[in-house]
Parts: sequence; C-alpha cells; structure tokens
Amino acid sequence: MKQGVVPDDLTRGFWEAANEGKLVIQHCPACNRLQHPPAPDCADCGSDDLGWKEMSGRGHVYNYGVVHDCPVRLLQEDQPFNVAIVMLDDDPDIQMFSHLPGTAEDEVPPRAAVEVIFEETANGQKVPEWRVVGEPS
Ligand SMILES: [Zn+2]
Repeated sequence: MKQGVVPDDLTRGFWEAANEGKLVIQHCPACNRLQHPPAPDCADCGSDDLGWKEMSGRGHVYNYGVVHDCPVRLLQEDQPFNVAIVMLDDDPDIQMFSHLPGTAEDEVPPRAAVEVIFEETANGQKVPEWRVVGEPS
C-alpha cells in the first residue's frame, strides 16, 4: 500500500473529493480556466477566488516511461513501474502522473485511453490513479 497523502489547505478540496470518488481540478471562475497542481492564485489572471470543478475522469496517455532506478527509497521495492503523463479529456492542458496500475511495464499502448480510479493509501486517504481502458482513439 502506498504512503498516505496529507492534505493541506491548498489541496484539501482535491483530496476530499478523491475520498468521495470524484476527480476535481482547481478552477478560476474569473477567466474560466483550470489549473493543476492547485495554487493560491490563478496563474493567468491572478484571482485568488478559486473553486473546484468536477472532471469526467477520462483522459489519454500523453507520454510515459518506466522507472528502474527511482531515487525515492520507499518506492524502490515497486520497481520497475510505469510513470505516465495523462492528459485530461476535459482539458488537455491539465496533466497528471500515474503508475497505470494493472498495465505491465513497456506494454502501455501509445495514447491509450484511460479512466480515473481511486486507490486507498496507508492513512485511508484515496488518491487518483489511472487505468488503461482501451486502444488509442
Ligand atoms: Zn483566472
């Protein structure tokens, strides 16, 4: 089981939604823009009146690699593992990392369609992960 995540004020909305099985991304109503990871202000217009917007939970693999020599000792027992960059279908500018659980290393179809799943970590906090659901589209 993965190490637990500890939410802070900035990321609490993200993690609370994850515990409910929802993927939310920080949203700026002033310029109707999504940003990830969460920040105190909108990187575009500077507004600090930011909220959360629920995503469809669908995306595509933008790029990926296989980690064989992870410098983080905690993760070394899981090596090798995938590290994929997932683009959200809702907004391809929003990208998240995933280990693509259930998909073998070096067997990730290019530009594969993925959907979000939620994995429980050591302290009970759920974290979004992504699962390959189909061939490129
Ligand atoms: Zn903005």
